[in-house]
Amino acid sequence: MKVAAFTFETLPSRVVFGPGTLARVPAELERRGWKHALVLVTAGRRAEGERLLGALEGRGVGLFAEARTHVRVEVVARARAEAVRLGADCTVSLGGGSTVGLGKALALDTGLPQLAIATTYAGSEMTSIWGITEGGVKLTGRDPRVLPAVAIYDPLLTLDLPARVTAASALNGIAHCVEALYSVDANPLTSLGAEEGIRALVAGARGSVAAPRDVDARSLALYGAYLAGSALGAVGMALHHKLCHVLGGTFDLPHAETHALVLPHVVRFDEPGAPEAIARAARALEAPDAAAALFDLLGELGLPRRLSDLGLSAADLPRAADLATAKTYPNPRPVTRADVLTILEDAFAGRLRARLPAG
Ligand code: NAD
Repeated sequence: MKVAAFTFETLPSRVVFGPGTLARVPAELERRGWKHALVLVTAGRRAEGERLLGALEGRGVGLFAEARTHVRVEVVARARAEAVRLGADCTVSLGGGSTVGLGKALALDTGLPQLAIATTYAGSEMTSIWGITEGGVKLTGRDPRVLPAVAIYDPLLTLDLPARVTAASALNGIAHCVEALYSVDANPLTSLGAEEGIRALVAGARGSVAAPRDVDARSLALYGAYLAGSALGAVGMALHHKLCHVLGGTFDLPHAETHALVLPHVVRFDEPGAPEAIARAARALEAPDAAAALFDLLGELGLPRRLSDLGLSAADLPRAADLATAKTYPNPRPVTRADVLTILEDAFAGRLRARLPAG
């Protein structure tokens, strides 16, 4: 085995994992010396937010139940006003990437630290990546201030995650792992975690879709999400994330389902430029052809296979290709606008290209 040179700086976060760990939140707040937590949830999870607030043993000051996808600047402003009014000294987010994302935007804006309780497989709780949408434009960046100080993973909170969200979110996590495997920043440790993340997410998603209240399957999926989030937090992403950012940010396509649908096509395109990384992904997927396995998984888990099913129109494809190639970024293969258009056309039609012959 040969080890290439690498530079790796791990992110400083504390992870508490396991069924029942929600009960550890008050002790975690105490450990940090945080006394005035503002709880963040989406409108649909208000009841869960109220229950959490009531269980904070006097360390909660209020609930903000307006988190929603794309972290709009107006929502951040309202949350900040609420945090100031209540004298909050931290946020406790309970939810997926949208809710954790609101906590991150507040941290960026006000410096309020965050304890994140992850209830999907998006992985945002392990990264210092923030995103804020203003006037329809989604800005993103990395900043150490937005990394949640504590991440709690309690599989019992995911037993009611609907099958379609479960499947799409798991594939969102798999996309982090795949792009981590061929990232320009990849190192032996991130690649180990990414490969293990794919394995755990696939088995966890299959088990959770078949038996949503199976705690072992949910634990496996959440463990995969932790690994996937760690991979996303540790190394830079490539074409797949860029393309999905454009499709979500500019065309308002659903985040996780877009990731799930686009991934097989990007893997097919990138495999000649990253044969070893894609072979590792295939090994984790227990299949000879990673792209085909990911494409088949969409059908098996009941996810859409055509971008048209997610609301994109054929007329949008050229603009999406323009935006996805407006700036250069690292990718295992050079990408032209024509390449991206081909990938988009395939994803639009729901057909996966055959593998290029080796050599
Ligand atoms: P989400 O947070 O929007 O959640 C999807 C829906 O599921 C919401 O309505 C939510 O209330 C509900 N939900 C969440 N957990 C549930 C549970 N356990 N049971 C029942 N319902 C539940 O979706 P997501 O895919 O987790 O996050 C997507 C967003 O996160 C996007 O905006 C994306 O850009 C961002 N994201 C950011 C990062 C990062 O590192 N910054 C990483 C991944 C995703």
